[in-house]
Amino acid sequence: MNFLSLIEQKREGKILAPAQIQEFIREFTTGKIPDYQMAAMLMAVFFRGLNTAETTTLTLAMRDSGDVLKFPKDKRPLVDKHSTGGIGDKVSLPLAPLLACLGFRVPMISGRGLGITGGTLDKLDSIPGFQTLLPAAQIIKQVQKVGCVICGQTDTMVPADKKIYALRDASGTVPSIQLITASILSKKLAESLDALILDVKFGCAAFMQTKADACKLAQAMVALGNECGVNTRAILTDMNSPLGRAAGNWLEVKEGVDCLENKGSNDLRELVVDSAAHLLVQTKKSKSISAARKVTEDCLRSGDPRAKWDEMIVAQGADLKAFNKKIALDSTAKVVAEVKSQKSGYISKCDARIIGEVIRDLGGGRLTKDSQINYDVGVDKIAKPGERVEKPETLCRVHAADSAQTKTAIARLKTAFAISVNCPAKTPLVAGIISR
Ligand code: URA
Repeated sequence: MNFLSLIEQKREGKILAPAQIQEFIREFTTGKIPDYQMAAMLMAVFFRGLNTAETTTLTLAMRDSGDVLKFPKDKRPLVDKHSTGGIGDKVSLPLAPLLACLGFRVPMISGRGLGITGGTLDKLDSIPGFQTLLPAAQIIKQVQKVGCVICGQTDTMVPADKKIYALRDASGTVPSIQLITASILSKKLAESLDALILDVKFGCAAFMQTKADACKLAQAMVALGNECGVNTRAILTDMNSPLGRAAGNWLEVKEGVDCLENKGSNDLRELVVDSAAHLLVQTKKSKSISAARKVTEDCLRSGDPRAKWDEMIVAQGADLKAFNKKIALDSTAKVVAEVKSQKSGYISKCDARIIGEVIRDLGGGRLTKDSQINYDVGVDKIAKPGERVEKPETLCRVHAADSAQTKTAIARLKTAFAISVNCPAKTPLVAGIISR
């Protein structure tokens, strides 16, 4: 294949034929196209874009670059959720066991965090003994038996995305709607899903800063997911403030388990319930969102999803005794300190980006792919916009590795909050729904 001529065609804004796209993905995955040429193609795509047919072909070619999970026939639909990432976003943790209890099979293939957004696998790594790297056969076996699994991509799943994503990261070509769509959906399509709910976030700590951009991305993914035979919907959610009251790997596991025990933050619960409710409607298990929300709330209250969580983590190697001992602790970090309010009033801002940056710099996130994570650090007891605080009540607590880190974090966390005399107008967490 003359790949140079394909780069030139795309550079000139021409449309590539399906066979050309399929071939260059195959050749790149098998190492026959050098990184520098692929980077040039990605930049051409970044500026010239891909039309719908090209994006579909690219997505399917990437999916087919490796193994696609094959599940036995079963009346339980296969479903999953994908979030574009945010601060304190631990929805996947309670959602997977909840969905299993609602009669779904959930092969939840998740990722690690990079930069300020957390990754589900990093959170799960804070559970003693928990294994996130499972071979395909074990993923399938666990989904059939337990109903849910949360694990990483195997080495043989969607290798094209692994290679292309690394190049995009190093070549300034990540923020392309078509490349993001192909990257996310190629992985989700490799799970052989019946239905998918996407949580596309917008705001200061999100990939997409504006609701309009998040909407464009959501529309592209919903259209392509449905075209590829997966009933796909998206919810647009606000990521200007953290989700829930805790951010940081282990602290988020604790808050996720609280949600399964009907405790904790209302916004987290709302998003967990809404995600499950949409999937119930998408798979025709419920007739309306309101009926589906009721079924979901009842299921959460039953305690079954909490028991399913234990079953899932044990199936993935967790030491339940050590987990229960750890979760009973208020904190596991060396130093815990409170950030106090300097005045009385209403919280009018709680900046998720600043909180995310503080946690990353405490060691809770990665600056590079190889950074070592400190699972115990983070921020909790976060006061939320609209809440009243009286001086010197707590705005949040910081969990750190030492007192020098704590001091720096407290100074930065103070700048994350704004306090006003009047109660700010409430902004909805779920700002829109995109369905086909
Ligand atoms: N997440 C992905 O998996 N791929 C992207 O391109 C962006 C976010």
